[in-house]
Amino acid sequence: YAAKARQCGSLIYHPQLDAGSQESLSLLSELRRAVENDELRLYLQPKIDLHRGRVVGAEALVRWEHPVRGLVPPMQFIPFAEQTGFIRLLSAWMLSGAARFSQQAREAGLDLRLSVNLSTRDLMDQELPAKIEALLSPLQVPAESLCLEITESTIMDDPERALSTLEHLHAMGLKLSIDDFGTGYSSLAYLKRLPVDELKIDRSFIMAMERDLDDARIVRSTIELAHNLGLTVVAEGLETLKAWAVLARLGCDEGQGYFVSKPMPQEQFIAWARAWQPPEPSTITAESVMA
Ligand code: C2E
Ligand code: MG
Ligand code: MG
Ligand code: MG
Repeated sequence: YAAKARQCGSLIYHPQLDAGSQESLSLLSELRRAVENDELRLYLQPKIDLHRGRVVGAEALVRWEHPVRGLVPPMQFIPFAEQTGFIRLLSAWMLSGAARFSQQAREAGLDLRLSVNLSTRDLMDQELPAKIEALLSPLQVPAESLCLEITESTIMDDPERALSTLEHLHAMGLKLSIDDFGTGYSSLAYLKRLPVDELKIDRSFIMAMERDLDDARIVRSTIELAHNLGLTVVAEGLETLKAWAVLARLGCDEGQGYFVSKPMPQEQFIAWARAWQPPEPSTITAESVMA
């Protein structure tokens, strides 16, 4: 088994991997096979309303259940999928899975907004809005139940073209979110021009804010900035009750992180959401007083 795993070592993405190399060709064929053999999994991580404690949505995150390597995390193949254009197929698979899950959740009495991550190549695809339309039309899922997460760098490659796709998607009723906010080449001017509804503060700031005053200040002013622009703010990397308390006090709307749950297979999500018990408001307040 170990020898076999080592043979597959090349599956891990290395930034220096050049597109035409043998390693890269075999990774691409492995990815194609993964789709044919149904090896991709859609995991979901809950998003919580920090003031009411309710589950309001979930982010769809891809996993690769490799027959030899086990569960491969997205960072080991997403950058490669982006370079080779394979990402479009993967995004279509994720979008369709998320939309179908949203329908399933509605049938189970849960009103959830499903978020899907998109890459630059997706936004360069002028057929994307039509593809999403086709995917939603046979379902009873309103466009507002889908949220597309993009990063600042996703937009920067070709801002005009990205903007036109985003405007089209927004006009259809889809929600748009800026992911990992604060880590890219943030241009506040783009925040103003883009038709976004939500801003996700990168987890590096959230995870450091309890011990680093600068991070705490960045979090506080980002929440304020987002609210002034009429955006919902989501904190990524919510790992402690104390972080919840601090974020709630700062007015942050939603949170997502290991304190609530790690991403889980979609099959487990509905049962998890029904069993979810938010912490007592009094314990949150107590933490906040101590903070
Ligand atoms: P992301 O979109 O920022 O997703 C959040 C990542 O943070 C996830 O990692 C999640 O497991 C992790 N995370 C959530 N809460 C916590 C926490 O409390 N602590 C810590 N340490 N980590 C937390 P994951 O699933 O490994 O995904 C990594 C990145 O890969 C994603 O970052 C996203 O950029 C990309 N990705 C994942 N799935 C897809 C996909 O279907 N399409 C595309 N284009 N990118 C994807
Ligand atoms: Mg994301
Ligand atoms: Mg993120
Ligand atoms: Mg992040």
